Amino acid sequence: MIKLIIHGGFFSESSQSQETKLAKQQSLSIIAKQSYEYLKTHTALQTIVYAVELLENDELFNAGIGSQIQSDGKIRMSASIMDGVSAKFSGVINIEDVKNPIKVAEKLFTHDDRVLGGEGAISFARANGFEKFNTELPQRRLEYEAKLKSKGMGTVGCVALDAQGHIAAATSTGGKGFEMVGRISDSATAAGNYANEYCGVSCTGVGEDIVSSAVATKIVTRVTDGMSIKQAFDKTFTELKNIDGFAGAIAIDKDGNIYHQDSHPMMVYASYDGTNLEVFN
Ligand code: ASP
Repeated sequence: MIKLIIHGGFFSESSQSQETKLAKQQSLSIIAKQSYEYLKTHTALQTIVYAVELLENDELFNAGIGSQIQSDGKIRMSASIMDGVSAKFSGVINIEDVKNPIKVAEKLFTHDDRVLGGEGAISFARANGFEKFNTELPQRRLEYEAKLKSKGMGTVGCVALDAQGHIAAATSTGGKGFEMVGRISDSATAAGNYANEYCGVSCTGVGEDIVSSAVATKIVTRVTDGMSIKQAFDKTFTELKNIDGFAGAIAIDKDGNIYHQDSHPMMVYASYDGTNLEVFN
């Protein structure tokens, strides 16, 4: 049994067009199916990187190409991966000018120092052959110049369960948009991306809320301690509500149960199991 779910952050009915919604549905459907095919012959860890790279390359989403611009006019991206088997986590925080932050996070996986930020992350990327690449889109610059706030957050993520029963999770983001320089996103922390042998979770939403509620860590820990995936989500999202938090998460447990939940309408996601394609609506 292999399973896969991906997300593309949030969609806002009030500020985004029907056309964008259809485009996101279509794109997530294609990437979910393509990544599922890949999972047939690859591990969960390889597949989450593959899926998130495809999502980063898609201009529709706020990760890699299409990332939002920070308050000083620069793009800084964050991404992480976690392998449920080895319990290893690696990631980059506020990296600049690389096409695929998730590939840099993957490269760090075999190192002793596995989470790098800012200049260190950029130097590591260059030393490892990641060429300078500008991920800025004209549309993002226009939004920035108009001093518009984010039009619906669009972080991306993937959780996969492979044929060996191993789970892995990956998350990549361009951030909230207009954030202070130096602000740390949840996406390369255990609150936003977490996996062990029982469950894997990738989050999107307001990073500060996700960290305050330790969303991914809590869900995974609760499933590990015996709750069903639904119970774990319900409890975690009830607690999130207590702080008026804004978040969404996708997950898969070791038995292949796929789950997702959001605190506000609506997180965009797609899952595929070889027969059934489920896409946000
Ligand atoms: N969680 C991301 C952040 O706060 C944003 C998002 O999910 O869209 O950096």
